[in-house]
Amino acid sequence: MQLLRNLYQVGGDLNGITWCGVDASFEDANTYAIQTPEGIALIDCGNGDTLPQIFDNMRYWGLNPEEIRACLITHPHRDHAGAAHLLKQRGVTLYAHRETASAIAAGDERCCGYLYHKPFVPCEVDTAVEDGDTVSVGGVTFSAMHLPGHTRGCTAWVFSLENRQIAACGDVIGTLLCGDFGWDGSIDFDKPLYIESLRRFARLDVDIMLAGHGLSYFHQPRRRVEQVLASALSQWR
Ligand SMILES: [Zn+2]
Repeated sequence: MQLLRNLYQVGGDLNGITWCGVDASFEDANTYAIQTPEGIALIDCGNGDTLPQIFDNMRYWGLNPEEIRACLITHPHRDHAGAAHLLKQRGVTLYAHRETASAIAAGDERCCGYLYHKPFVPCEVDTAVEDGDTVSVGGVTFSAMHLPGHTRGCTAWVFSLENRQIAACGDVIGTLLCGDFGWDGSIDFDKPLYIESLRRFARLDVDIMLAGHGLSYFHQPRRRVEQVLASALSQWR
C-alpha cells in the first residue's frame, strides 16, 4: 500500500497486507519500505514467515527486494523483527537500539517467540544505536528516539520525506481502534519508563506517525500521543 511518494506499507496482517493465519491479527507487524535514490530502507520486517509476501508486495509496487540496503528495527518482538536474520543473510544492514540489538542477538524471551509457539532466530544487529543517533540511507536521515516501556529497546525512527516529518513508532502507541498502548505482557515491560517515554514523545510534532500495527496517522498524530499519555497518567496510578 502506497502511503506517500517513495513510502509504502508492504507488510502487516491487521489489515491483511500480509497474512499468516485464519484471521487478521497481531502476528505480523507493519513493515514499511522507503525508496531512496540509492536503495531501499525497511522499517521493521515482520515475523519471518511472511517475508516472501512482503517481497511480493514490494514487487507489485515496483520495488526490487534486491535493493534493500538497510532495515531499521523498532523493537525485538517477533512480529516486528522475526525476519531480521533472513535479511542479514541477504546482506541487508540491520540497525537497532542497543537494548533491541541485545535481545535480537540473544533471541530470548524479550523477543516473545513463545507467544507464537515459534522460535525467534537470533542474529547480530550490524549497528547498535543510542538515543539521538542518526542513520543515513540513500540520502534519507533516520534519527533514533529511544522510547522504552513496551520493551526496553523501543525506538521511534524519525525522518523527513516529501517535505513531511514522519515518525515510525512501532508499538509505543496502540493501534487506532485497538487500545491506547502496546501490549503490556513483555517481560521487560515497564510502566514508569513508558510514561516518561510518552511525555517525551508528546513533545515531538510530526506530520505522520507510522503505526506498528493497523492504521497509521495522517492528521495531527501528536494529539493521538497526547491522548495515550492522558490514558497512562489516569490509568497507571
Ligand atoms: Zn511489540
